[in-house]
Amino acid sequence: MRKCSYCADPTIGKLASSYWGWYPLEGDRIAYKIMYCKPHAEKHLMPIARTWNDNLPNEGEPVCWDCGAEVDSLRDKLFASIYMPNTDPIKLEVGLCSACLSKHQQDIAAVGQRLSNRTEIHARTGEDAWIAIGIVPVDS
Ligand SMILES: [Zn+2]
Ligand SMILES: [Zn+2]
Repeated sequence: MRKCSYCADPTIGKLASSYWGWYPLEGDRIAYKIMYCKPHAEKHLMPIARTWNDNLPNEGEPVCWDCGAEVDSLRDKLFASIYMPNTDPIKLEVGLCSACLSKHQQDIAAVGQRLSNRTEIHARTGEDAWIAIGIVPVDS
């Protein structure tokens, strides 16, 4: 059953979805899937979709995508794919300062459904959900 990750309301109409992933310093890659009903997509997803273009870092100037702080390096990256009805998918690969990264990781883990390391197929595109985020599966 497809339902919103934020509420238990029965959903009429299409859901938006997003996939988020990152590589922890130690251990395996981690990815989550979040589903959104229309009101929750507007609340949680639209702000990201609206601002991500503006916040892309300039070449050679590592700046946190979220807070704009200058950082030494943008090793800490968050990968995402955002699917909204009637909209082209948005792919994100953003560098974050470590404080913002851990904040986002907590938010995502709080509502998201953890993807297993087995290949998961994206319901809408038929694409491997991991590859959809930009995280290449590794043999384990
Ligand atoms: Zn909802
Ligand atoms: Zn930051």
